[in-house]
Amino acid sequence: MRKPLVFLLLSIALACARPQPKIAVAPPVNTAETEIAPDAVADTLLVNVQSLDPTFVVDLRYATANNFTGAPLPGYLGNRAYVRREAAAPLARVQRDLRSRGLALKIFDAYRPVRATLAMVDWTERVHRTDLLKDGYIASRSRHNLGLAIDLTLVDLGTGQELEMGTPFDTFSAVAHTANASGLAAVNRQKLKAAMEAEGFVNYDQEWWHYTFSVPNPLRFDRPIR
Ligand SMILES: [Zn+2]
Repeated sequence: MRKPLVFLLLSIALACARPQPKIAVAPPVNTAETEIAPDAVADTLLVNVQSLDPTFVVDLRYATANNFTGAPLPGYLGNRAYVRREAAAPLARVQRDLRSRGLALKIFDAYRPVRATLAMVDWTERVHRTDLLKDGYIASRSRHNLGLAIDLTLVDLGTGQELEMGTPFDTFSAVAHTANASGLAAVNRQKLKAAMEAEGFVNYDQEWWHYTFSVPNPLRFDRPIR
């Protein structure tokens, strides 16, 4: 074994042994290539968020043609937002906190079947936009497949209208980077971020709408959404 390689492996081993920092850091865009868990396991670990709190507004865009691919994605057979059981109660607490301030969460995407992610990757190849994979806007192994990512915005409970966030959901460019906003949009993005972070969710800095949650035993799922 050559010396640089030994050094590299040693460095990695040391880095892994070091205690993790306490600050929340967004995980990598692509998850590990793990086995897909059976649907029976998905049934025990994924929870419909509206079963905890029926006031979540759910507009699952990939179940409709109103998304960047222009067609419903495979595996999206219903307008239901599922997340890993561990993330459901914290999300319900975010919703309760927001409602006390006249706001609510509107969910665009939550758990996403692996087959839908593969369809997104196919789409990038078909329309020659594989740059979106490279630039971190579309993941080929998404944390949404784990039920540990959620795309959402804020709505005003009085009007039912979405708060101004500066760009629509799924804007794949720098203007959607959470820090790239000014005025009301910047205020609203930070309002969403503060509410989510209070319950342990971590924002992806390239997408103001995308939040992740961590569990010790993440699993990939392909169970259709019904
Ligand atoms: Zn997302």
